[in-house]
Amino acid sequence: MSLPQFKLLRLRSVEEAVGHLAQQGGNIRVLAGGTDLIPSMRQKLFEPQYVLDVRGISALRGIRPQADGGVEIGALTTLRAIERSQFLRQHYPVLTEAAATVASPVLRNMGTIGGNICLDTRCLWYNQSLTWRKGCGFCIKKDGDLCHVAPGGTKCWAAFSGDTPPALLCLYAEIEIANAQGLRRIALHDFYSGLGDDYRRLQPDELVTRVFLPASSANYSGVYRKLRVRGSIDYPLAGVAVALKRSSNGNGLGHVTEARVGITAVNPAPLLVKGASELLKDKAVDEALAEAVGDLAARTAKPLTTSALTPEYRREMIRVFTKRAVLAAAGLS
Ligand SMILES: Cc1cc2nc3c(=O)[nH]c(=O)nc-3n(C[C@H](O)[C@H](O)[C@H](O)COP(=O)(O)OP(=O)(O)OC[C@H]3O[C@@H](n4cnc5c(N)ncnc54)[C@H](O)[C@@H]3O)c2cc1C
Ligand code: SF4
Repeated sequence: MSLPQFKLLRLRSVEEAVGHLAQQGGNIRVLAGGTDLIPSMRQKLFEPQYVLDVRGISALRGIRPQADGGVEIGALTTLRAIERSQFLRQHYPVLTEAAATVASPVLRNMGTIGGNICLDTRCLWYNQSLTWRKGCGFCIKKDGDLCHVAPGGTKCWAAFSGDTPPALLCLYAEIEIANAQGLRRIALHDFYSGLGDDYRRLQPDELVTRVFLPASSANYSGVYRKLRVRGSIDYPLAGVAVALKRSSNGNGLGHVTEARVGITAVNPAPLLVKGASELLKDKAVDEALAEAVGDLAARTAKPLTTSALTPEYRREMIRVFTKRAVLAAAGLS
């Protein structure tokens, strides 16, 4: 599959980059690591006139611990750098665990945290070549007006399938977005719309520049579990992130003081499981409690036939992985 023709623009500063984004309107795409953009362009899912290569903006690389105990991560920081960061492993382990499961080492060397956050939603009817899509009929997400997954409906249910966003949601991450007018900072939670075909609240003239993890989310124990067909390379078909903190009572078996559970790949957006924190708070984790949290997560998951493996199996694995992740985060497995 060949790449469509485009003009490559190489930029060295955020100001220059957002200037070009504003000029070109919807005819431009940001290239970070390119690990998702380039295959998508080959499949003619995106056919931009311009590609804005931001890899030369060195200010957007790096992991910078802040004086208040939080940390700032440049959007162009590779997943490999995140996976290998001693600071993040020690203070925000759910993020390093999730980053380490993305694709394969080669792709993590190229792929960035900003690209992972901005990743397009996926569907078996969409992530195909132009010839394939022409043969089967276009759908709402691109060029068509029907959905093969939920026929009769008008909504696209393509699944958000990034690994780090559920971990970032558990850490109450915020992101910084730049445009020609300046910078704004929003909770990552507010970035995703829940619509498969218009999944992120980012204008075509905007660039994600930084990720912030607050000090208040540091030092939670963290676990990420992921279902995929192969042990490496594959996108998640269901993913669960758990971050929890326990009171210390001398022998390390205190009650949960704070907990968060995030899921991915089973809805059009990564989500925090509502009610999970309340369910776990002030309790000692045991099998029954971990199972109850698993039930809650499974009720939040709405997998459809957008992905390999059946929706029933993927929902069940959300239940199982949540239970296991809660037990592991509590040091019980
Ligand atoms: C074989 C294969 C397996 C994969 N497996 C996984 C997996 O297991 N888990 C997973 O999460 N991902 C997976 N991926 C997808 C991808 O490798 C990762 O999500 C990676 O983090 C994407 O980052 P990138 O920098 O390469 O993004 P790019 O491909 O450069 O960009 C992705 C999208 O985000 C936009 N974008 C990128 N950065 C910014 C920014 N700073 N501001 C605004 N928009 C931006 C781009 O325009 C594009 O639309 C896989 C990809 C392949 C090819
Ligand atoms: S969920 Fe429906 S509209 Fe969305 S990509 Fe899949 S088939 Fe297309």
